[in-house]
Amino acid sequence: MLATRFALFLVILAVVCSVSYAADPDPLQDFCVGFNDSFSMVSVNGKFCKNPELVKPEDFFYSGLDKVGDTSNPLGSKLTQVFDDQLGGLNHQGVGMVKIELEPKGLNPPHEHPRASEIIFVSEGTMYVGFIESNPSDPNVPNKLYAKTLSPGDVYVFPRGTLHFQYNVGKTNAVAYASFNSQNPGVVTVASSLFGSKPPVHPEVLAKAFQIDVKMVEYLQSLTWKRNN
Ligand code: MN
Repeated sequence: MLATRFALFLVILAVVCSVSYAADPDPLQDFCVGFNDSFSMVSVNGKFCKNPELVKPEDFFYSGLDKVGDTSNPLGSKLTQVFDDQLGGLNHQGVGMVKIELEPKGLNPPHEHPRASEIIFVSEGTMYVGFIESNPSDPNVPNKLYAKTLSPGDVYVFPRGTLHFQYNVGKTNAVAYASFNSQNPGVVTVASSLFGSKPPVHPEVLAKAFQIDVKMVEYLQSLTWKRNN
């Protein structure tokens, strides 16, 4: 009996200890500049490392974030990503950044990053930003929104995995720079993924989930869903 209990305890311990805190893994070397030569290199974090003897300062360099992005799209926003795909030297460093540009009433629509927390710094304009906490344990308690209107010089944090957005409530363009603790944070945009997926989600699923009728779902699924990433 005691042995059985002890065995059960060990099983529970094993389960608890195997809970994964999966952020980007720590680097094992100074750098592994992402490289597209599958013949001669070893893979780290999914990318091949450029031969260190061939690595140049340019491999750690990205230019062009000073340029004004084109926000003439239905969302009125432009995101410029600087992740490992854009900057090889970021590979396996566990950091990344994005420039967020919003025209007046421009929106970075509700989305979440499965692999990173985000911190933004506003350099221009006025934006209303927020995130929604994950479900409270009591199903009768609504999810809390943490939102604020930001001005130049302000900083805001979006905890990993939480739904969040940025919306320009000013009369001029707004700009923010976002940093992530991942070289590849991933993005799930709520509206475009739910209503714009291919193949489409069964309309009855979305009708029930959103408390709307099936016709409305079919209408939403017929729209063109543009993402800005
Ligand atoms: Mn984000």
